[in-house]
Amino acid sequence: MGVVELENVWKIYDNGFEAVKGLSATLQDGEFISVLGPSGCGKTSTLRMIAGLEEISRGEIRIDGIRVNELLPGDRNVAMAFESYALYPHLTVFENIAYPLRVRHLPEVEIERQVGAICDALGIAAYRSLRPASLSGGAQQRTGLARALVRSASIFLLDEVLSHLDAGERAMLRGEIRRVQKLMRLTALFVTHDQLEALAMSDRIAVMNDGELQQIGTPEEIYDAPANLFVAGFVGEPAMNTLRAERVQEGGRDQLRIGGQNLSARDLGLRALPAARELTLGIRPKNVTLRPAGEPGTLAGRVHTFEMLGDFTLASIDLGSGHLAFKIGEAGLRLALDEPVAVSFEPEKVHFFDAETSLRIRPGAGPG
Ligand code: ATP
Repeated sequence: MGVVELENVWKIYDNGFEAVKGLSATLQDGEFISVLGPSGCGKTSTLRMIAGLEEISRGEIRIDGIRVNELLPGDRNVAMAFESYALYPHLTVFENIAYPLRVRHLPEVEIERQVGAICDALGIAAYRSLRPASLSGGAQQRTGLARALVRSASIFLLDEVLSHLDAGERAMLRGEIRRVQKLMRLTALFVTHDQLEALAMSDRIAVMNDGELQQIGTPEEIYDAPANLFVAGFVGEPAMNTLRAERVQEGGRDQLRIGGQNLSARDLGLRALPAARELTLGIRPKNVTLRPAGEPGTLAGRVHTFEMLGDFTLASIDLGSGHLAFKIGEAGLRLALDEPVAVSFEPEKVHFFDAETSLRIRPGAGPG
């Protein structure tokens, strides 16, 4: 079993700083959850409270139904791996991984079996007799992970374990951690500030900002239906465009005014506009379609920048009231700087947020 329940958990440091504010969430058995958010949002504090390395200021944490607030780290059946590998330099890879088992006085043949299995699973069997200093960063991190995994704890906590690695090793280990976690049916909590990592690896993602949980959901839910403007802007690369908009009545019809240009519900592929008067429209760059300048029902602007980003080119247009980024295909490659163009938005891909609360609004909801 490996169920973790956090109920209204707070971390208030001695200087009064509130690093985690009223966090409630449940990790199901065998689930891989990423805690995603910018630096300083309270990810590590959360992880350390679960591990027992940091006191819980308020609220309760339960592991497999048992309150652990007062339990020492060693009594919580939790394993943790950190960003820094923290390996013993004088021990071989094998002995580093075997260490937690030796502390528990397991028989030699059992140690050999368990360490061997973990080394095979993480692709480090060939390094068993080497010392950490002679390994690449990736192999050192695999050894650190293996040492945490070999403890067969019910909960596996991973704190930015991929951040120090180069892009190739990071991508490879990302898949392998996920594979091992699934095969061993581990419950894992993975802290990262990298939204791509979180999207790629997780069953669910908990997005945090400023000590508060913003949204918890599957990668698809977080990406396709961000709960607020923070999540919308933090998840997805290139970032979602956001445009301030106001609902107005013109010619007896509801229109959305965006920097002096109007779009109707129909132009946005909607039956009705949201009820809120002041709102923010969000659209991902891949859902912006280039149209001929002057076409009705579009937003007009001028080509502002081009950026070649490997598999695609990102262009932005100046709408007068702000810039709008979009991915350009074949047709866009013939565009010139400052050329007048128009854009429309893919139906059903437009997001709306309340301008006051930043919360997501369902399009077409309400009397509008
Ligand atoms: P990072 O990715 O930079 O590690 P994080 O999201 O993991 O960020 P935490 O390490 O949990 O964030 O820190 C949250 C906030 O609490 C930060 O502003 C940090 O400066 C503050 N903080 C952490 N430890 C202490 C402490 N012992 N005393 C006071 N404030 C602290």
